[in-house]
Amino acid sequence: MKKRSSILLIYTGGTIGMELNPGTDELTPVNFEKIARELPELVRLDLDIKTVSYSPPLDSSEIGPELWVRLAGTIEEYYNRFDGFVILHGTDTMAYSASALSFLLENLGKPVIFTGSQLPIGMLRTDGRENLITSIEIAASNINDAPAVPEVCVFFQNKLFRGNRTTKYNVEYFNAFRSENYPPLAESGINIEFNYHAINYPYGGRNLKVYREMDNNVAILKIFPGITGRLLRTLFGTTGLRGVIMETYGAGNAPTAPWFISEIERAVKNGIFILNISQCTTGSVDMSKYSTGKRLHEAGVMSGYDMTTEAAVTKTMFLLAQASGAKDLRRLINSSIRGEIK
Ligand code: ASP
Repeated sequence: MKKRSSILLIYTGGTIGMELNPGTDELTPVNFEKIARELPELVRLDLDIKTVSYSPPLDSSEIGPELWVRLAGTIEEYYNRFDGFVILHGTDTMAYSASALSFLLENLGKPVIFTGSQLPIGMLRTDGRENLITSIEIAASNINDAPAVPEVCVFFQNKLFRGNRTTKYNVEYFNAFRSENYPPLAESGINIEFNYHAINYPYGGRNLKVYREMDNNVAILKIFPGITGRLLRTLFGTTGLRGVIMETYGAGNAPTAPWFISEIERAVKNGIFILNISQCTTGSVDMSKYSTGKRLHEAGVMSGYDMTTEAAVTKTMFLLAQASGAKDLRRLINSSIRGEIK
Protein backbone atom coordinates (compact mmCIF):
# COMPACT_ATOMS: atom_id res chain seq x y z
CA MET A 1 0.00 0.00 0.00
CA LYS A 2 1.25 3.49 -0.85
CA LYS A 3 2.36 5.51 2.16
CA ARG A 4 0.37 8.66 2.97
CA SER A 5 2.23 11.84 2.14
CA SER A 6 3.49 13.72 5.17
CA ILE A 7 3.42 17.48 5.51
CA LEU A 8 5.04 19.64 8.16
CA LEU A 9 3.11 22.80 8.95
CA ILE A 10 5.27 25.55 10.43
CA TYR A 11 3.28 28.28 12.12
CA THR A 12 5.04 31.63 12.57
CA GLY A 13 2.00 33.92 13.04
CA GLY A 14 0.37 36.48 10.73
CA THR A 15 -3.24 37.53 10.22
CA ILE A 16 -4.31 33.95 9.51
CA GLY A 17 -3.82 33.24 13.20
CA MET A 18 -4.92 36.57 14.64
CA GLU A 19 -7.83 37.52 16.83
CA LEU A 20 -9.51 40.83 17.49
CA ASN A 21 -8.62 42.03 20.97
CA PRO A 22 -11.86 42.96 22.65
CA GLY A 23 -11.77 46.59 23.70
CA THR A 24 -8.84 47.75 21.55
CA ASP A 25 -9.94 46.42 18.14
CA GLU A 26 -6.36 45.40 17.44
CA LEU A 27 -5.43 42.17 15.69
CA THR A 28 -2.84 40.09 17.57
CA PRO A 29 -1.49 36.61 16.81
CA VAL A 30 -2.75 33.59 18.78
CA ASN A 31 -1.43 30.07 19.32
CA PHE A 32 -1.80 27.36 16.72
CA GLU A 33 -4.29 25.29 18.74
CA LYS A 34 -6.90 28.00 18.16
CA ILE A 35 -6.29 27.88 14.41
CA ALA A 36 -6.50 24.10 14.32
CA ARG A 37 -9.93 24.28 15.97
CA GLU A 38 -11.17 26.36 13.04
CA LEU A 39 -9.97 23.76 10.57
CA PRO A 40 -11.65 20.41 11.14
CA GLU A 41 -11.27 19.86 7.35
CA LEU A 42 -7.58 19.09 7.81
CA VAL A 43 -8.33 15.57 9.03
CA ARG A 44 -10.30 14.92 5.84
CA LEU A 45 -7.14 15.28 3.79
CA ASP A 46 -5.65 11.83 3.56
CA LEU A 47 -2.28 13.11 4.75
CA ASP A 48 -0.04 12.82 7.73
CA ILE A 49 0.15 16.43 8.98
CA LYS A 50 2.33 17.51 11.89
CA THR A 51 2.83 21.01 13.21
CA VAL A 52 5.72 23.02 14.58
CA SER A 53 4.54 26.22 16.17
CA TYR A 54 6.95 29.08 16.84
CA SER A 55 6.43 30.93 20.05
CA PRO A 56 5.40 33.67 20.34
CA PRO A 57 3.48 33.87 17.05
CA LEU A 58 4.55 37.03 15.24
CA ASP A 59 3.12 39.74 13.09
CA SER A 60 5.43 39.41 10.11
CA SER A 61 6.62 43.02 10.51
CA GLU A 62 8.70 41.64 13.39
CA ILE A 63 10.37 39.02 11.21
CA GLY A 64 13.95 39.26 9.91
CA PRO A 65 17.14 37.28 9.24
CA GLU A 66 17.07 35.54 12.62
CA LEU A 67 13.74 33.91 11.89
CA TRP A 68 14.74 33.05 8.30
CA VAL A 69 17.74 31.15 9.61
CA ARG A 70 15.51 29.46 12.19
CA LEU A 71 13.06 28.40 9.47
CA ALA A 72 15.91 27.01 7.36
CA GLY A 73 17.08 25.08 10.44
CA THR A 74 13.58 23.64 11.05
CA ILE A 75 13.37 22.48 7.44
CA GLU A 76 16.80 20.87 7.69
CA GLU A 77 15.84 19.11 10.93
CA TYR A 78 12.66 17.61 9.46
CA TYR A 79 13.74 17.34 5.82
CA ASN A 80 14.02 13.56 5.66
CA ARG A 81 10.85 12.91 7.64
CA PHE A 82 8.40 14.96 5.56
CA ASP A 83 7.43 15.14 1.89
CA GLY A 84 6.61 18.83 1.94
CA PHE A 85 6.51 21.94 4.12
CA VAL A 86 3.87 24.64 4.51
CA ILE A 87 4.81 27.82 6.36
CA LEU A 88 2.03 29.97 7.81
CA HIS A 89 3.33 33.52 7.80
CA GLY A 90 2.02 37.10 7.79
CA THR A 91 1.63 38.59 4.36
CA ASP A 92 3.50 41.84 5.01
CA THR A 93 7.01 40.37 4.78
CA MET A 94 6.14 36.99 3.26
CA ALA A 95 7.88 37.82 -0.03
CA TYR A 96 11.09 38.70 1.88
CA SER A 97 10.97 35.48 3.90
CA ALA A 98 10.22 33.32 0.86
CA SER A 99 13.08 34.97 -1.05
CA ALA A 100 15.47 34.55 1.87
CA LEU A 101 14.57 30.87 2.31
CA SER A 102 15.10 30.23 -1.39
CA PHE A 103 18.71 31.39 -0.97
CA LEU A 104 19.34 29.65 2.36
CA LEU A 105 18.16 26.26 0.98
CA GLU A 106 20.41 25.00 -1.82
CA ASN A 107 19.52 21.88 -3.87
CA LEU A 108 15.99 21.89 -2.46
CA GLY A 109 14.15 18.77 -3.58
CA LYS A 110 10.84 19.25 -1.73
CA PRO A 111 8.11 21.92 -1.70
CA VAL A 112 8.32 24.75 0.84
CA ILE A 113 5.13 26.77 0.51
CA PHE A 114 4.43 30.03 2.29
CA THR A 115 0.84 31.03 2.79
CA GLY A 116 -1.33 33.12 5.09
CA SER A 117 -4.45 35.20 4.73
CA GLN A 118 -5.92 38.67 4.61
CA LEU A 119 -8.70 37.77 7.09
CA PRO A 120 -8.16 35.74 10.27
CA ILE A 121 -9.09 32.07 10.06
CA GLY A 122 -11.84 32.52 12.66
CA MET A 123 -13.78 34.97 10.50
CA LEU A 124 -16.65 33.77 8.37
CA ARG A 125 -15.32 35.11 5.06
CA THR A 126 -11.72 34.13 5.74
CA ASP A 127 -9.43 33.38 2.82
CA GLY A 128 -7.16 31.44 5.19
CA ARG A 129 -8.99 28.13 4.96
CA GLU A 130 -8.69 27.82 1.19
CA ASN A 131 -5.14 29.16 1.12
CA LEU A 132 -3.99 26.66 3.72
CA ILE A 133 -5.80 23.61 2.35
CA THR A 134 -4.66 24.22 -1.23
CA SER A 135 -1.08 24.88 -0.08
CA ILE A 136 -1.08 21.56 1.75
CA GLU A 137 -2.48 19.79 -1.32
CA ILE A 138 0.19 21.33 -3.53
CA ALA A 139 2.94 20.46 -1.03
CA ALA A 140 1.74 16.84 -1.15
CA SER A 141 1.40 16.67 -4.95
CA ASN A 142 3.62 14.36 -6.95
CA ILE A 143 4.46 13.96 -10.57
CA ASN A 144 6.16 10.70 -11.63
CA ASP A 145 6.64 9.82 -7.95
CA ALA A 146 8.59 13.02 -7.28
CA PRO A 147 7.39 16.32 -5.71
CA ALA A 148 5.48 18.42 -8.24
CA VAL A 149 6.98 21.73 -7.06
CA PRO A 150 10.34 21.33 -5.28
CA GLU A 151 10.77 25.08 -4.77
CA VAL A 152 10.22 27.78 -2.16
CA CYS A 153 6.86 29.25 -3.20
CA VAL A 154 4.10 31.60 -2.13
CA PHE A 155 0.51 30.41 -2.53
CA PHE A 156 -2.30 32.96 -2.34
CA GLN A 157 -5.92 32.94 -3.51
CA ASN A 158 -5.52 30.69 -6.54
CA LYS A 159 -1.92 31.10 -7.64
CA LEU A 160 1.35 29.52 -6.70
CA PHE A 161 4.35 31.76 -7.35
CA ARG A 162 8.09 31.25 -7.11
CA GLY A 163 8.85 32.86 -3.73
CA ASN A 164 11.75 35.00 -4.89
CA ARG A 165 9.66 36.44 -7.76
CA THR A 166 6.82 37.55 -5.53
CA THR A 167 5.77 40.93 -4.13
CA LYS A 168 2.87 41.88 -1.89
CA TYR A 169 0.95 44.54 -3.75
CA ASN A 170 -2.57 44.51 -2.35
CA VAL A 171 -3.62 45.40 1.19
CA GLU A 172 -7.30 45.08 0.50
CA TYR A 173 -8.18 42.09 -1.65
CA PHE A 174 -7.54 38.37 -1.38
CA ASN A 175 -5.14 38.32 -4.34
CA ALA A 176 -2.44 39.97 -2.24
CA PHE A 177 0.60 38.88 -4.27
CA ARG A 178 1.95 39.30 -7.76
CA SER A 179 4.84 37.90 -9.71
CA GLU A 180 5.25 40.34 -12.58
CA ASN A 181 8.38 38.92 -14.14
CA TYR A 182 7.71 35.19 -13.88
CA PRO A 183 4.61 33.08 -14.60
CA PRO A 184 2.71 31.26 -11.84
CA LEU A 185 4.04 27.77 -11.06
CA ALA A 186 0.49 26.50 -10.58
CA GLU A 187 -3.10 27.73 -10.59
CA SER A 188 -5.95 26.25 -8.63
CA GLY A 189 -9.52 26.06 -9.82
CA ILE A 190 -11.56 22.90 -10.01
CA ASN A 191 -8.18 21.21 -10.50
CA ILE A 192 -4.69 22.29 -9.62
CA GLU A 193 -2.88 22.91 -12.91
CA PHE A 194 0.90 22.85 -12.66
CA ASN A 195 2.97 24.91 -15.06
CA TYR A 196 5.72 22.29 -15.35
CA HIS A 197 7.82 24.31 -17.80
CA ALA A 198 8.19 27.10 -15.26
CA ILE A 199 9.15 24.89 -12.30
CA ASN A 200 12.80 24.27 -11.44
CA TYR A 201 13.54 20.60 -10.83
CA PRO A 202 16.76 19.60 -9.08
CA TYR A 203 19.22 17.59 -11.09
CA GLY A 204 22.16 15.45 -10.17
CA GLY A 205 20.63 14.18 -6.90
CA ARG A 206 22.63 16.65 -4.79
CA ASN A 207 21.87 16.81 -1.09
CA LEU A 208 20.11 19.73 0.50
CA LYS A 209 22.60 22.30 1.72
CA VAL A 210 21.39 24.71 4.37
CA TYR A 211 23.11 28.06 4.98
CA ARG A 212 22.79 29.80 8.29
CA GLU A 213 24.11 33.26 7.75
CA MET A 214 22.77 36.52 6.38
CA ASP A 215 24.57 39.86 6.61
CA ASN A 216 21.99 42.59 7.18
CA ASN A 217 24.41 45.51 6.75
CA VAL A 218 22.42 46.60 3.72
CA ALA A 219 20.11 49.49 2.81
CA ILE A 220 17.49 50.30 0.21
CA LEU A 221 17.97 53.63 -1.55
CA LYS A 222 14.97 54.77 -3.54
CA ILE A 223 15.94 57.49 -6.01
CA PHE A 224 13.48 60.39 -6.28
CA PRO A 225 13.50 63.75 -8.05
CA GLY A 226 15.13 66.21 -5.65
CA ILE A 227 17.31 63.70 -3.80
CA THR A 228 20.25 65.45 -2.10
CA GLY A 229 23.96 64.73 -1.86
CA ARG A 230 23.65 65.10 1.93
CA LEU A 231 21.26 62.16 2.04
CA LEU A 232 23.58 60.01 -0.08
CA ARG A 233 26.61 60.92 2.05
CA THR A 234 24.76 60.09 5.26
CA LEU A 235 23.55 56.76 3.91
CA PHE A 236 26.87 55.69 2.39
CA GLY A 237 28.64 56.83 5.56
CA THR A 238 26.65 54.41 7.74
CA THR A 239 29.06 52.42 9.90
CA GLY A 240 29.39 48.84 8.68
CA LEU A 241 27.27 49.33 5.55
CA ARG A 242 28.26 46.76 2.90
CA GLY A 243 25.47 46.68 0.33
CA VAL A 244 22.91 49.10 -1.13
CA ILE A 245 19.92 48.11 -3.23
CA MET A 246 19.35 51.19 -5.35
CA GLU A 247 15.83 51.49 -6.76
CA THR A 248 16.19 53.56 -9.89
CA TYR A 249 13.80 54.83 -12.56
CA GLY A 250 12.60 52.73 -15.48
CA ALA A 251 15.29 50.62 -17.10
CA GLY A 252 17.83 51.51 -14.40
CA ASN A 253 18.28 55.27 -14.67
CA ALA A 254 19.35 57.88 -12.12
CA PRO A 255 20.68 61.47 -12.23
CA THR A 256 24.04 61.99 -13.93
CA ALA A 257 24.90 65.24 -12.11
CA PRO A 258 28.59 65.16 -11.11
CA TRP A 259 27.77 65.35 -7.36
CA PHE A 260 25.52 62.29 -7.67
CA ILE A 261 27.97 60.18 -9.67
CA SER A 262 30.89 61.11 -7.43
CA GLU A 263 28.95 60.01 -4.29
CA ILE A 264 28.27 56.67 -5.99
CA GLU A 265 31.89 56.32 -7.13
CA ARG A 266 33.17 57.12 -3.65
CA ALA A 267 30.85 54.53 -2.07
CA VAL A 268 31.96 51.85 -4.56
CA LYS A 269 35.62 52.74 -3.93
CA ASN A 270 34.97 52.36 -0.19
CA GLY A 271 33.85 48.78 -0.83
CA ILE A 272 30.08 49.31 -0.75
CA PHE A 273 28.37 47.01 -3.18
CA ILE A 274 25.56 48.78 -5.11
CA LEU A 275 22.88 46.84 -6.94
CA ASN A 276 20.57 48.57 -9.41
CA ILE A 277 16.95 47.47 -9.55
CA SER A 278 13.99 49.25 -11.06
CA GLN A 279 11.16 51.04 -9.27
CA CYS A 280 8.92 49.56 -11.98
CA THR A 281 7.54 46.17 -11.06
CA THR A 282 7.55 44.76 -14.58
CA GLY A 283 10.60 44.46 -16.81
CA SER A 284 14.31 44.59 -16.28
CA VAL A 285 17.19 46.97 -15.62
CA ASP A 286 19.31 47.51 -18.71
CA MET A 287 22.12 49.94 -17.95
CA SER A 288 23.23 50.05 -21.58
CA LYS A 289 19.96 51.56 -22.79
CA TYR A 290 20.33 55.21 -21.72
CA SER A 291 23.38 57.32 -20.96
CA THR A 292 22.01 57.81 -17.42
CA GLY A 293 22.17 54.05 -16.82
CA LYS A 294 25.58 53.81 -18.51
CA ARG A 295 27.06 56.33 -16.07
CA LEU A 296 25.95 54.16 -13.15
CA HIS A 297 27.54 51.13 -14.75
CA GLU A 298 30.80 53.03 -15.27
CA ALA A 299 30.67 54.12 -11.62
CA GLY A 300 30.73 50.45 -10.59
CA VAL A 301 27.02 49.80 -9.97
CA MET A 302 25.87 46.22 -10.68
CA SER A 303 22.67 45.33 -12.52
CA GLY A 304 19.93 43.58 -10.55
CA TYR A 305 18.12 42.82 -13.85
CA ASP A 306 14.47 41.92 -13.21
CA MET A 307 14.78 41.03 -9.53
CA THR A 308 12.14 42.10 -7.04
CA THR A 309 13.28 44.37 -4.21
CA GLU A 310 12.66 41.48 -1.81
CA ALA A 311 14.88 39.11 -3.79
CA ALA A 312 17.57 41.77 -4.26
CA VAL A 313 17.73 42.60 -0.54
CA THR A 314 17.82 38.99 0.65
CA LYS A 315 20.19 37.82 -2.10
CA THR A 316 22.58 40.62 -1.17
CA MET A 317 22.34 39.69 2.53
CA PHE A 318 22.95 36.06 1.60
CA LEU A 319 25.90 36.71 -0.71
CA LEU A 320 27.56 39.22 1.62
CA ALA A 321 27.59 36.46 4.24
CA GLN A 322 28.71 33.61 1.94
CA ALA A 323 30.71 34.98 -1.00
CA SER A 324 34.42 34.79 -0.54
CA GLY A 325 35.32 38.22 -1.90
CA ALA A 326 34.17 41.03 -4.17
CA LYS A 327 34.83 39.05 -7.36
CA ASP A 328 32.82 36.09 -6.15
CA LEU A 329 30.02 38.40 -5.04
CA ARG A 330 29.88 40.11 -8.44
CA ARG A 331 29.86 36.78 -10.28
CA LEU A 332 27.03 35.37 -8.14
CA ILE A 333 24.94 38.53 -8.17
CA ASN A 334 25.12 38.46 -11.96
CA SER A 335 23.78 34.92 -12.21
CA SER A 336 20.47 33.39 -11.32
CA ILE A 337 21.25 31.15 -8.36
CA ARG A 338 17.64 30.17 -7.46
CA GLY A 339 15.65 31.32 -10.48
CA GLU A 340 15.39 34.89 -9.13
CA ILE A 341 16.50 36.58 -12.37
CA LYS A 342 15.71 35.78 -15.97
N1 ASP B 1 0.37 42.39 9.60
C1 ASP B 1 0.08 41.04 9.17
C2 ASP B 1 1.38 40.27 9.08
O1 ASP B 1 2.09 40.42 8.12
C3 ASP B 1 -0.61 41.07 7.85
C4 ASP B 1 -1.02 39.71 7.32
O2 ASP B 1 -0.67 38.67 7.79
O3 ASP B 1 -1.78 39.73 6.32
O4 ASP B 1 1.70 39.55 9.98
